[in-house]
Amino acid sequence: MRSTRQRDVILEDLRSVKTHPTADEVYEMSRKRVPDISLATVYRNLERMSELGVITRLDLSAGKRRYDGDVSRHYHFRCPVCGRVFDLSLGESHTVEGALGVLRSLRGVEGVLIELKRVCAKCELGS
Ligand SMILES: [Zn+2]
Ligand SMILES: [Zn+2]
Repeated sequence: MRSTRQRDVILEDLRSVKTHPTADEVYEMSRKRVPDISLATVYRNLERMSELGVITRLDLSAGKRRYDGDVSRHYHFRCPVCGRVFDLSLGESHTVEGALGVLRSLRGVEGVLIELKRVCAKCELGS
């Protein structure tokens, strides 16, 4: 029961933010409610839930692995200035979906990773 409770807290904390936190950041949130939780436990649960499709794991080309509690279809962009990761909604963009479909259908292609770099609103303002 105890490990289920820990997993629930981790999942709730991850879903409560839009920041796509790293395992360390989720750990900092979850330990407030479960003081004896360990970073290893948080990491293990995040990995397990990613495998089950309960959450999304973001493997970006730079920086630490991040997690997203929002499993709906959306894209991300990373700000090259502050390094934060944001959601990018394209709505019903069939052009992008069509291109992805073509790329995925190519022989030997196991996955398509598109990574967008874009300066976020806060960094653009220089604050
Ligand atoms: Zn930024
Ligand atoms: Zn996201």
